[in-house]
Amino acid sequence: MSDYKFDTLQIHAAAAPDPATGALQVPIYLTTAYAFKDADHAARLFNLEEVGYIYSRLTNPTVMKLAEKVAVLEGGAGGVACSSGHAAQIMALFPLMGPGLNVVASTRLYGGTITQFSQTIKRFGWSAKFVDFDDLDALEAAVDENTRAIFCESISNPGGYITDIPAVAKLADKLGLPLIVDNTLATPYLCRPIEMGATLVVHSLTKYMTGNGTVTGGCVIDSGKFDWSASDKFPSLSAPEPAYHGLKFHEALGPMAFTFHSIAVGLRDLGMTMNPQGAHYTMMGLETLSLRMDKHVANAKAVAEWLENDPRIDFVTYAGLESSPWHDRVAKVCPKGAGALFTVAVKGGYEACVKLVNNLKLFSHVANLGDARSLIIHSASTTHRQLTEAQQIAAGAAPNVVRLSIGIENAEDLIADLDQALAAATA
Ligand SMILES: *Cc1c(COP(=O)(O)O)cnc(C)c1O
Repeated sequence: MSDYKFDTLQIHAAAAPDPATGALQVPIYLTTAYAFKDADHAARLFNLEEVGYIYSRLTNPTVMKLAEKVAVLEGGAGGVACSSGHAAQIMALFPLMGPGLNVVASTRLYGGTITQFSQTIKRFGWSAKFVDFDDLDALEAAVDENTRAIFCESISNPGGYITDIPAVAKLADKLGLPLIVDNTLATPYLCRPIEMGATLVVHSLTKYMTGNGTVTGGCVIDSGKFDWSASDKFPSLSAPEPAYHGLKFHEALGPMAFTFHSIAVGLRDLGMTMNPQGAHYTMMGLETLSLRMDKHVANAKAVAEWLENDPRIDFVTYAGLESSPWHDRVAKVCPKGAGALFTVAVKGGYEACVKLVNNLKLFSHVANLGDARSLIIHSASTTHRQLTEAQQIAAGAAPNVVRLSIGIENAEDLIADLDQALAAATA
């Protein structure tokens, strides 16, 4: 199957007709439990000697098909779908971390991830250190004997900055640590983190992967390539796991160790399960992923180029622009395009941004991205409102900046809408 090109895989991977009915589309299995054939069958399932279905908190046929499909699209060995992108991040760290251990993360991350990593994970005794991933010496210096993972985004929110994944992966490899890449803004169509050396890929399926703002979901995809037994740093995978009657996951399951641990312990005990209806919508979205991403990228390029040349604009951060300091990384890290999310600084500052948002007709003012429709948010008056101006600037959400998520409408219509709203905003 994986010999096929992306456009073929997005339709046919993990999509064989349903064995029970021949249904061509993956059916939505709305069931909580599954009948065991007999007591022996039940015992084999609980021992992970046979793969099957027990209870939908752990596995559901519809949700499993989605995880399998994304694993094929990312070129991974296996994957697990869960309830949101934020759940996926906890699920990715869960088998690796423990009290007193840390993750070294990029400073350029989705704002919600910065809060999750800097505040909430402390409740588990975990911690995060944030460094600029363009400074590989600083990254190496931040790693200590308690570090268990390195975390970054391929294309990062909100500025559309691109991480040099091959360079970071090489360093992670030298340090013997797994690299986790959040590939939400790029999708596996634009960026292939596993081929560049990443160990795990996480997604918010809420965004481009579903593509129409109807689902909250996430997933973790494992490359299957990391040697969990090379050191004693990952005992949940390499040593007898007390949470699963002493099973040694890596020894028993090889490249599927992380995936099975995520299901058998992660989903079982954390319960961050995706619902089958949502998984169905995401699979419908995935069938057109490449078509949508090509259009998102073409529109983003047209809109960013127009904005950059407009006298009412101070600057545009899109890495797809020749003027971007990260333009050289597009060819290396995401050769099919730099995504469709970027920020724009408007002359006239905070007031002009608020007026721009109020006067747009096609762009919706919402805290979301990766929808078929174009979206805008003025972070300083909304998501970043509680921060000081210095913190807003550091987060790429200065008072004079709006974030655009360019949809798949007609680019000329989007530009005309921005033109009339900028006229009203700067009059
Ligand atoms: C939205 C987003 C998340 C969180 O995903 P949810 O599905 O909202 O939990 C994580 N990372 C990035 C880059 C995002 O854009």
